[in-house]
Amino acid sequence: MSKKPIYMSSIHQGGTENYYIQQALTDNALSTGGENVNQFENQLQGYLGNQCHVAALSSGTAAIHLGLILLGVQAGDEVICQSMTFSASANPILYQGATPVFIDSEDETWNLCPIALEKAIIDRIAKGKKPKVIIAVHLYGVPYQIEAIHAIANQYSIPVLEDSAEALGSSYKDQKCGTFGDIGILSFNGNKIITTSGGGALIAKSEEIKNKTIFYATQSKDNAPHYQHSYVGYNYKMSNICAAVGQGQMEVLEQHILSRRAIHDFYLELFDAIPDVKVYQVPNEDFYANCWLTVIIIQPNENKGFSNEGLQYFLEKENIEARPLWKPLHLQPVFEKYPYYGGKVAENLFNQGLCLPSGSNLTNEEKDRIYTVIKEYFK
Ligand SMILES: *Cc1c(COP(=O)(O)O)cnc(C)c1O
Repeated sequence: MSKKPIYMSSIHQGGTENYYIQQALTDNALSTGGENVNQFENQLQGYLGNQCHVAALSSGTAAIHLGLILLGVQAGDEVICQSMTFSASANPILYQGATPVFIDSEDETWNLCPIALEKAIIDRIAKGKKPKVIIAVHLYGVPYQIEAIHAIANQYSIPVLEDSAEALGSSYKDQKCGTFGDIGILSFNGNKIITTSGGGALIAKSEEIKNKTIFYATQSKDNAPHYQHSYVGYNYKMSNICAAVGQGQMEVLEQHILSRRAIHDFYLELFDAIPDVKVYQVPNEDFYANCWLTVIIIQPNENKGFSNEGLQYFLEKENIEARPLWKPLHLQPVFEKYPYYGGKVAENLFNQGLCLPSGSNLTNEEKDRIYTVIKEYFK
């Protein structure tokens, strides 16, 4: 009989989701928008602070798409994007008919490399086109080099779209991720730190931008007695039932973060004694990670034969899920024809990295199983 599966990041209910769903059902509020959406948005605004204005949407991808539209990205424009990320960070660039320009990672946070970023901006300007937007990602919940990246963005007056899909609850110098960019986005997909069963949010700096987001997200209906449209519209608003799930999830967000951070500590201790493995960590105390996923790098060591693929396979045999890191977008068939600036940092991370089970609902028994199998592999 095969062992019970251990997943990398599984759905973790808090317990009160059902209460809010019942409320929506009782109110017959089964649509996009509604009281549960308003309350969920308020919860997020309160949590993120920094006077942000949140519009709940149907997905993180939809939020990135509307973010690009709000920042004025049109066909033929160029948009800079971190290469080491999930494809959803960059797909909306193509929805707009714009061109992605990919940037390598740096060694510390594995996010946008400031040196490659500046080189790219200078070179794109010299080639005749100033990039319209910079998409910066907090990979696996680790904040990017906020000060260096925003200094460059300011110097060249290019707005930042902050992809915080993996980083709800992470912060830099006590300011929450999602509130640094000109526009921020969140995802509440099933695998993220909290779920709405599918959903996302756009974080704006003003009520005006929030309202504009909702305008585009609800088919761009002009203020008229009949259906009148002056702009292309989208159907991107969050469903009220999904927001009800989110309300319950917000009540356990802080607990989920603490659990995931405890799992991160468990791995730090486990790998402390294994010299060939490095655990992905924040560079210093200014950075606070939600530890959405714990990721390791296995230094290639031909004598011992250890590798990320080897460990993944070894865990898989015990029904424990582990996965490689995001494959850099400049190496993806759909994106490989677009410009890329940098070296091989992201590529090496992909070749050597592995994401380990990090769910907030991992039991001690499951941790014991993981511990034993990993120790066995590196014996
Ligand atoms: C999950 C994710 C997204 C997309 O969010 P969805 O809600 O799944 O559309 C975007 N960017 C990153 C980095 C993600 O991890």
